Amino acid sequence: MNAGTDQASRMEVPHLLRVFPALTQAVPWSNLPGSSLPTPVEPLSVISERLWIKRDDLSNQLYGGNKSRKLAFILADLQQRGKRQLVTFGATGTNHGVATSLFCQRLGIDCTILLFDQPASQTVTRNYALMQRMGAHLIPCGSLANTVAHFYLWQRLKQPHAYFLFAGGSDVPGVLAFVNAAFELKEQIQQGLLPSPKVVICPVGSSATLAGLSLGMQLAGLAIDVQGVRVAPSHLGPFAACTPATIRRLMRRTYQYLKRRAPSLPDITLVTPTLLENYYGAGYGEATPEGLAAMRLLRESCGIELEQTYTAKAFAATLDIARTNPTHDVLYWHTFNSVDMTPLP
Ligand SMILES: *Cc1c(COP(=O)(O)O)cnc(C)c1O
Repeated sequence: MNAGTDQASRMEVPHLLRVFPALTQAVPWSNLPGSSLPTPVEPLSVISERLWIKRDDLSNQLYGGNKSRKLAFILADLQQRGKRQLVTFGATGTNHGVATSLFCQRLGIDCTILLFDQPASQTVTRNYALMQRMGAHLIPCGSLANTVAHFYLWQRLKQPHAYFLFAGGSDVPGVLAFVNAAFELKEQIQQGLLPSPKVVICPVGSSATLAGLSLGMQLAGLAIDVQGVRVAPSHLGPFAACTPATIRRLMRRTYQYLKRRAPSLPDITLVTPTLLENYYGAGYGEATPEGLAAMRLLRESCGIELEQTYTAKAFAATLDIARTNPTHDVLYWHTFNSVDMTPLP
């Protein structure tokens, strides 16, 4: 192997594993086809002087967004466990389902997705058709509660070759991807590509993005306040689903996983991240007026697309934070895919 190739492959190793080499053998990870990291950071100064965007919509040339980041760790975990089938669940228009079907198809993994109803939109219809085209087995289950019940029942039946993945890819491997993303941001700050932001804002559905970024900032020694915008219900019946406590639990499990594998990791007291509750509106997937206004503003001023379920609500919160804190550098973490999926076979 020549030096050039060697250097190229070393550059693709996740930042987290480069900073803590003890993790290299202990954390399954693979370079997904189309992977395009680090994602760019760009100023949104046409909107606000000290506003920035992290372009995770460009995280992968086949399908961008936050799900592709997670799947690099998740599918490596699946393969290391010798599994051949993946079972997950999500809403009818789940972005997680699209990303998972696509990379499962590429890697020859059989993919089954249980679906719960969500309000119709253009994105929802398109995503459903994409999952079908990419060969996923789709099983509509009606309500969210019914879907979750099916998922756990199926898991109980313990199929030896199946890997069960929580909605949104929010298990420890998915969170690791965003711990890694925090280290990626740290390097970009050190390179002078952006000032160290006071606040980072992201949408919160199944919570891996927020949990990973919050834990990652702490492990990377960055004094950045990570704020999540809740876009999913806080409770499912009597069960807490998206609350500061559930997010903290995900952070703790991930920290323990890492600490067991790399005892040299810093000792930290987990900070519970801020969860903004006022942008949720009438429900998951329901558009809000301030979200639609934020969507229009970003499209017209910068040509960047948001969607109504997650990113419009998170960007509406970002605009409020930037307006009320004009002296703070604020970074909006953009989690939506921007690759045009129409040419797909
Ligand atoms: C899934 C998703 C989110 C939510 O991320 P979580 O890690 O599940 O909280 C945010 N934005 C978009 C576009 C998504 O598809």
